[in-house]
Amino acid sequence: MVSRGIELMLNERVSNFGDIELNKYVKDQVVKTESGKDVTCDMVIRCTGGKPNTSAFKEALGSAVNDNGLVKVDQFLRVEGSENIFAIGDIVDIDEEKMSVAANAHVEIVAKNIAAALKGSKMHAYRPSSGTIMLIPLGRNGGVGQLPFMNLGETLTKNIKSSNLFTNKTWNDMGQKPPK
Ligand SMILES: Cc1cc2nc3c(=O)[nH]c(=O)nc-3n(C[C@H](O)[C@H](O)[C@H](O)COP(=O)(O)OP(=O)(O)OC[C@H]3O[C@@H](n4cnc5c(N)ncnc54)[C@H](O)[C@@H]3O)c2cc1C
Repeated sequence: MVSRGIELMLNERVSNFGDIELNKYVKDQVVKTESGKDVTCDMVIRCTGGKPNTSAFKEALGSAVNDNGLVKVDQFLRVEGSENIFAIGDIVDIDEEKMSVAANAHVEIVAKNIAAALKGSKMHAYRPSSGTIMLIPLGRNGGVGQLPFMNLGETLTKNIKSSNLFTNKTWNDMGQKPPK
């Protein structure tokens, strides 16, 4: 980021989020920090962690949705208190990093468990992932990555993710050829 002219301000907290219009062009908005710095900018994107949007089924699932909007599940990824509703992905209340790697692992377990439920056979327990696998593209040709045992630089991140954002994998997963 620094090599692309991005200035990082570390150990600072924004103090005026309530006054700022987020995610759209607004000329000369001033972001204030707790240490008293002012930063004038035209767009502010908040990247301080997301909250799952489970409002659509909060009422239907009742107390299975916790105060943070996460869906409580048992070891088979069934929604708490239900025999035949499963939850997968970032919305599940499991103590692990919110990652597509984990979401894909949920999919595999739930697919097996739906089949097991239909056959009346034993379900598979989900084992939460440990460690972080995170690749952050910065344009098509750059980015950085973090694996449990090493960090990745621009070239590896580009080759693995930035050049196509895993769209080729998605086409292949669906049994399709990626378009040229
Ligand atoms: C910048 C960034 C980089 C990341 N990099 C990595 C990485 O390198 N490795 C990794 O493993 N993970 C990474 N992640 C995390 C990964 O993207 C998520 O863990 C993953 O996408 C979760 O999948 P999901 O299907 O649970 O949720 P999502 O991918 O968020 O999909 C949920 C979908 O539901 C839709 N939706 C919401 N509400 C409704 C509704 N009421 N009705 C219908 N549809 C609705 C949303 O529009 C969305 O399309 C990254 C995330 C970000 C933001």
